[in-house]
Amino acid sequence: MGKRLVIVESPTKAKTVKKILGAAYEVTSSFGHIRDLPKSKMGIEIDKDYAPQYEVPADKKARVAELKSLASKAEEIYIATDDDREGEAIGWHLASVLKIDPKKAKRIVFHEITKSAIERAMSQPRHINLDLVDAQQARRVLDRLVGYELSPFLWNKVARGLSAGRVQSVAMRFVVERERERDAFNKEEYWSLDAFMKHTETEFEAKLATFQGKKVGKMDIKTAEHAQTMTQTLLASPYVIDSIEQKAAKKQPKPPYRTSTLQQDANSRLGFSSKQTMRLAQQLYEGIRLGKEGMTGLITYMRTDSLNLSEQFLQEANAYVQATFGAEYALSKPRVFKNGSKGAQEAHEAIRPSDPTRTPESLKDHLDPRQYKLYDLIWRRAVATQMKEALLTKDTVLMSSDVGSFRTTGSVITFPGYLKLYPDTTKELLLPSMQQGDTVTLQRLEPTQHFTEPPARYSDATLVKELEEHGIGRPSTFAPTISTIIDRGYVERDEAKRLAPTDIAYTVNDLLVEHFPHIVDKDFTADMEQKFDDIEEGKTAWVPVIDAFYKPFHKTLIEKDKSLDKKELTEETTDEVCDKCQSPMVIKIGRFGKFMACSNYPACKHTIPLNKDGSKREEVEPESLGKDPETGLDVTLRTGRFGPYVQLGEQTEEMKKNKEKPKRGSLLRGMVLEDVDFKTALQLLSLPRTLGEWKGEPITAQMGRFGPYIKAGEESRSLPAKADYTVLTITPEQATELLNTPKKTRAPRTKKSA
Ligand SMILES: [Zn+2]
Repeated sequence: MGKRLVIVESPTKAKTVKKILGAAYEVTSSFGHIRDLPKSKMGIEIDKDYAPQYEVPADKKARVAELKSLASKAEEIYIATDDDREGEAIGWHLASVLKIDPKKAKRIVFHEITKSAIERAMSQPRHINLDLVDAQQARRVLDRLVGYELSPFLWNKVARGLSAGRVQSVAMRFVVERERERDAFNKEEYWSLDAFMKHTETEFEAKLATFQGKKVGKMDIKTAEHAQTMTQTLLASPYVIDSIEQKAAKKQPKPPYRTSTLQQDANSRLGFSSKQTMRLAQQLYEGIRLGKEGMTGLITYMRTDSLNLSEQFLQEANAYVQATFGAEYALSKPRVFKNGSKGAQEAHEAIRPSDPTRTPESLKDHLDPRQYKLYDLIWRRAVATQMKEALLTKDTVLMSSDVGSFRTTGSVITFPGYLKLYPDTTKELLLPSMQQGDTVTLQRLEPTQHFTEPPARYSDATLVKELEEHGIGRPSTFAPTISTIIDRGYVERDEAKRLAPTDIAYTVNDLLVEHFPHIVDKDFTADMEQKFDDIEEGKTAWVPVIDAFYKPFHKTLIEKDKSLDKKELTEETTDEVCDKCQSPMVIKIGRFGKFMACSNYPACKHTIPLNKDGSKREEVEPESLGKDPETGLDVTLRTGRFGPYVQLGEQTEEMKKNKEKPKRGSLLRGMVLEDVDFKTALQLLSLPRTLGEWKGEPITAQMGRFGPYIKAGEESRSLPAKADYTVLTITPEQATELLNTPKKTRAPRTKKSA
């Protein structure tokens, strides 16, 4: 008799599930999707109700053969992919490939990989939910249609290599519009007067409330002179306490995390990007090896917009709080949270620890530092929801003289409640014990200059918040949307890791806003998300939803393809004249930004690089760094259209004739001109480096158009931006590890055949 076969989508999850189910079960992994739309063509039959032509990618053929063989020997098959649309779709593809009727397939779902959750799931299998599959399919098909038709359009009308997608274009619009608000912002000067008062022996801070009978608002003191005069007047008089107002206040714990709030907090408190947070959360969910205990799932499923907490968790958390902090910190009945977000499923759960008694401290040896920080955040937030509210008293004290008055507010925590576990970022401010009528001394007044600030650039946290508030994102889409606009060159991170648009983002955004308003309209996009939710709930069929979008979109695209002119869209005239042929110069835009070019192109190829602010980049004289010991040629540091680079020797007349260029090397990511000394320049010129072998092919490390990468035979991998090695220092071992990691799939770059 064969074993019972359980199929999940990730090998780590397989190990954790296997540990729970034991020897009677075989648990295997599909390694993600086993079928997808083809890489080389659109793969959608538009006139056949948008039928997707799924295929098994070449690198999944062996896996599918193994799954088929395991399935043929199995007594029963359970599909245990993640409990959301994507998991359902993977399950459906598995059923299709393994020839299992989806209406008879045994589908099991759980939100955490624990013994009780898995056992419960095994005892109540359902079938594949085709509504969920359709919702996922509709998103996939629609995004493929838009990407496949809009990207080549941008190639023809703006610059080659561009791509556009549905949700990402709305996100890009937010970033572009925010930058324009910042550019249009006028800074205004204002001053504050911070007072240091003294009562008995204690000093405390206070804020100016009134001056000569008038209320002083934030922007009322405009100049240094004004602040100075007021300071002198105020310092000259004695102050008496007018009133002391005491108020009791309560503070409630925040709801447990869902995907969007976890990404926001992990970004603002820990500095993690959305993508990083999701990767770490997935590791915690799928299972971590805990010494003798083996693979253990530590948190519930990380893609969720639900605030529900399971009955079991509520009981366990309550018991934990009682045992650890005492009965006065525990609740008499559980605190429950209402699901505010649209489309949140009652059956799902918030992100919480699988077992509240597993404190972060107890797991420290088994987690890497970042996993630990994220677990700590999740654990504290979830357990704190089941603790008593915090009690505070707030004292507001008003002190005045003939010329003005000051106000201060002190707060004291009288009972910490949940703050004991989840401390606040705001500080307690203690005031001395004071009475009405007491005299206080104004020790000093500090005038401080301020300027009004333009709206801040989006961080991962604030962009996720914005997308969610407009109903544009779903738990599964926040992180990929942000990664996509960065990977596609529309958005860059500034020094503070905030999101700033590139030149090309403005051009593409403005084109889309003017000519394809629906694609970048937030309400339209939110409405589309709602339609996917309706498909998921079985309220509507998916094909009409696609059709209603695609037909008008396609028609507009054909019209715009005829009516729009690349020159008009991308060229700006200037007063400059070409040095070489006297034709007018124009400003053009390429994938990497703006540059000045001769309008007589292609007859004249003269170009001038531009700085970020649009000014002409001064022609920098090549700087000689030394002589190459091997060839004796000069090694020089130069600046070109795409930034600084190093060059070996000069371009000779003969090379010009043969259209050859001297050997060059561009700078690595993050390197600046000043970083390049003679040794580094030689290293840069030594690329590509050979690093040993992988599967019989030599490995080379080199710089490409899209950054550093390694290559062995047909296989290539970009070097991860976060790696602790560079293209100059990567070792054969690190290169082998990178090559052994499956390649990330890219969106199609092939043009649609007419
Ligand atoms: Zn010219």
